[in-house]
Amino acid sequence: MAQKMNMMKKPIIDLSDCILCGVCQDVCPEVFRLNDAGYIEVVELLDYSRSDVDEAIKNCPADCIAWE
Ligand code: SF4
Repeated sequence: MAQKMNMMKKPIIDLSDCILCGVCQDVCPEVFRLNDAGYIEVVELLDYSRSDVDEAIKNCPADCIAWE
């Protein structure tokens, strides 16, 4: 039960390392999007798919996505 509550964790992006390759958007478009300022941002959600975000973390070439 307590485990489920931990799903509220949120992904964060270290923008100083992000190279805007778009991989995270391809892998997980419901979580990562390009904002009007031209940066990748994390969409505000009540819950994030651990497997999808982990996939984005694994595939990010700049290694700049992490769980908060
Ligand atoms: S995969 Fe990583 S480097 Fe590529 S756009 Fe997403 S956060 Fe930036």
